[in-house]
Amino acid sequence: MPDVRGKRVVVIGAGPVGLCLALRLAQQDIPVTVVEALGEDNFLEQVPRAGTNHPATLELFDAIGLYRRLEPRGIVAPLFHYWDRHENRLIAEFDHAHLKDDTRFPYVLQCERIKIVEEALALAKTHPLIEVRLSTTFTSFEQNADGVTAHVANADGDAETIAGAYLVSGEGARSIVRKDLGIEFEGFTYSDRTLNIEVAYDFRQHGYTERNYISDPTEWSNLFHWKGPPDRWRVHFPTAPEDDEAAICRPEALQARLQRFLPTAKDFDIVGSNLYTVHQRVAKRFRVGRAILAGDSAHVNSPIGAMGMNSGVHDAFNLADKLAGILRGTLSEDQLDRYERQRRHVALQHTQQQTIRNKKLLAEKDPAVRSRNHDELRRTAEDPKRARAFLLRTSLIESLREAEAIA
Ligand SMILES: Cc1cc2nc3c(=O)[nH]c(=O)nc-3n(C[C@H](O)[C@H](O)[C@H](O)COP(=O)(O)OP(=O)(O)OC[C@H]3O[C@@H](n4cnc5c(N)ncnc54)[C@H](O)[C@@H]3O)c2cc1C
Repeated sequence: MPDVRGKRVVVIGAGPVGLCLALRLAQQDIPVTVVEALGEDNFLEQVPRAGTNHPATLELFDAIGLYRRLEPRGIVAPLFHYWDRHENRLIAEFDHAHLKDDTRFPYVLQCERIKIVEEALALAKTHPLIEVRLSTTFTSFEQNADGVTAHVANADGDAETIAGAYLVSGEGARSIVRKDLGIEFEGFTYSDRTLNIEVAYDFRQHGYTERNYISDPTEWSNLFHWKGPPDRWRVHFPTAPEDDEAAICRPEALQARLQRFLPTAKDFDIVGSNLYTVHQRVAKRFRVGRAILAGDSAHVNSPIGAMGMNSGVHDAFNLADKLAGILRGTLSEDQLDRYERQRRHVALQHTQQQTIRNKKLLAEKDPAVRSRNHDELRRTAEDPKRARAFLLRTSLIESLREAEAIA
């Protein structure tokens, strides 16, 4: 077996994508340096983001020893619901049990991104082949035929370089690598921002399940359950482009919005809120030479459908296995072009299309179209064959199968 010790991969970003990539590479004896701007003191202070982990992602987490650390911190959720807020009724219930022959994990795990990176970072820190550089900010890089050099500002603020065979950008949507390579981030940004409110209240007493998509012609929403203590529910609402951020995030305004959604005798116990902008973009290229994009640095999409982090983790495993093969001499470097073909296809044909469709479905205003959409969802949920096909798509299993067939 060729000696791969000198062939280090430099990964920028200890998000879910960077950490999964590092763990998967190290599992195959490839040394990795992970560069992360956040430090020990603020790593766990990141704003709430992803949290629904689909079956195929759970299989990958399991392969690197991460799943068993996440399951006790999450909620196993086989069901998800579509609701009609306008008529206050359940439209359709989908059960991942239809996927029992397709996956070992016929459910999603509701487990927030912050818990995933906390557990993945703990695994990475103890792995002898992974060097984690916290409080270290990546600033630029250069590459030649033999390798890459990353320029960073270390914890003391001093400039330093880190050399490797390949550089992977797991930096998230604002990727410096993508910008330095001049790669276009094609797509669009929604003019309306999404308001996220976190509430300690059990919505199941009103018939909701752990994961709910709620359509409404004026104010659609999503409702998700996270494990505590205390247990929290995340409610998403759209906001108008002209809304003033300070005004809509005032405690009285948040309370009023929640009470409009579900009037209760008591005030909701609001434990947090934030407003975020939603982009639908895919990088025109995922790789230039020895520099490669993965996760949000390569593609971003609306969170409706829970596909951003999941598809990013799928990128990470696809790429790690190819890089490991190339560094061990069992695969040729053109496999990196296959990575781009496979994962760009998924981004364009699956995550972009599905998330844009999901938002349209929830926000539809035309009563006739709404009614047709809801009938269609109901019929799909009630027919086991159609329900399975629907779940294969929404859980991204179909996207992985399609990618595998791309040469
Ligand atoms: C409200 C919300 C809900 C969401 N829900 C879901 C969901 O349920 N399911 C789902 O699949 N997706 C969801 N997403 C999307 C998901 O959060 C992202 O797709 C995912 O976090 C991307 O992971 P990443 O590792 O690529 O990047 P990030 O999570 O953005 O991580 C990037 C890391 O790189 C570090 N970094 C950045 N720049 C530098 C630098 N110059 N030097 C060093 N370090 C750097 C950052 O500090 C960070 O740690 C949601 C997003 C939002 C906003």
